[in-house]
Amino acid sequence: MKRLYLDHNATTPLLPQVKMAIREAMELIGNASSIHEDGRRVRRCLEEARQEIATYFHCKSSQVIFTSGATEANNMILKGFNGSVIISSIEHDSVLHTRPDAQICDVLPTGIIDLSHLETLIKKHYTQNNTPLLISIMAANNETGMIQPLASIKELARRYGAYIHTDAVQVVGKYPLNWSDLDLDFISLSAHKIGGPQGIGALIINEQVLLTPLLTGGGQERSFRSGTENVLGIIGLGTAIKLSASQNWSATSKMRDYLENELQKRCSSLLPYEYNEKYDRLPNTTILRMPGVRNNSQVMHFDLQGISLSAGSACSSGKVKTSHVLQAMGVPEPALQETIRVSLGKENSQRDIDRFIQVWEELYQRSGTLT
Ligand code: PMP
Repeated sequence: MKRLYLDHNATTPLLPQVKMAIREAMELIGNASSIHEDGRRVRRCLEEARQEIATYFHCKSSQVIFTSGATEANNMILKGFNGSVIISSIEHDSVLHTRPDAQICDVLPTGIIDLSHLETLIKKHYTQNNTPLLISIMAANNETGMIQPLASIKELARRYGAYIHTDAVQVVGKYPLNWSDLDLDFISLSAHKIGGPQGIGALIINEQVLLTPLLTGGGQERSFRSGTENVLGIIGLGTAIKLSASQNWSATSKMRDYLENELQKRCSSLLPYEYNEKYDRLPNTTILRMPGVRNNSQVMHFDLQGISLSAGSACSSGKVKTSHVLQAMGVPEPALQETIRVSLGKENSQRDIDRFIQVWEELYQRSGTLT
C-alpha cells in the first residue's frame, strides 16, 4: 500500500511547479555577483524571488535577506541584535537555545502566550537597564498549531519601545495574517514548510536596526549574509511563496476537525491540553493523546502501517524527546509521553483520514486501555 504522509509541519513535499522552476534554473550559469550577462541573468532570478517574498509580507524587497533556512534566520536576528531579548517558552529550538541570556515568557495551558507575564518582563527590562529590547515570539506553534496574538504582542512592544521578531515558519501559506497592518520588525521563514526545497529561507529585516552579521566575507545580501547565494533554493522559495498566497485550507481544516471528532467518540481524553476554540490554530495541525500508549510506540506502529507522523517536532537525533512545548503548557505525565502530532497537507484526502482513524483505533483497542 502507498505510504501516507501526515508530517507536513516537519517538511512538505516539493510542489510540482517548484520542481519545474528548479529544473529550469539548473540550466543557468553564472554567479549573481558577476557583472557579465550570465551573472546578471542569475541576479534577475534572485531579485524576482526576493520580490515574491516582499509581496507576500507587504514589505520592500530590500528588507528580504536570504538565509539557509529559518534556523539561520532565527540565529541571525537573535545573535545579531545588539541588545536584550525576550522569547517565549514554546519557541523552536533555534530560538530557544540561541541566547542563553534571554528572558523567557510563559504560556498559558491553552498554548497562548501569557501577555501579562510578557508585560511584566518588558517593564522589568526597562527599569533595570536601557539597552534595546527585542521580543521574539513565533506566529504559530509547530506542535500545537496555536496562533499567537501577534497584534497584541506588537502593541505591547511598541508601547514600551521594543522591537519585535516572529518566527513565521508554520504560519506562511496556512493562515492569513495581515502583515501590512502588523508591521513587524523581523520575520523568519523557511521554504520547505510550504512546498519549497530544504536548506533555504529568509529573514525580513527592519533596515533601521543595526545587525551584526553571522557570516562575513564577500558582502552578498548587502553584507547581512555573505556567501554565494543558493540560486536553486532561492528560485524554489520564490515559486513556493507565490503559490502559497492563494491556498485555501478550509477542506483540510474540515478533515482535521472530522478526525478529532471521530477519535473523541472513541476516547474522551484525546486532546492533551486545554484547547479553547476562542483561539485560532493552524488548519492542518492536531495533537492527539492515546492514553496508555507511549508516543514512541505509537510513531513506530504508524510507521509499520505505512503512516509517517511524529511526536512533537522533528528532532535531529531521530529520537522522540519530551515536548518542551507541552511541558511549558503544563501538560502532566503521563499525557506528556502519550501524545503524537498529525500535520496534514493539501494533498491529503478523506480516505487518508479514514485510514489514519482505522490504524489509530486498532492500536488503541490492542492497548487494552479503552476509556
Ligand atoms: N521554526 C519553526 C517553528 C519550525 O517548525 C522549524 C522547522 N522545524 C524551524 C524554525 C527551522 O527551520 P529550518 O528547517 O528551515 O531551519
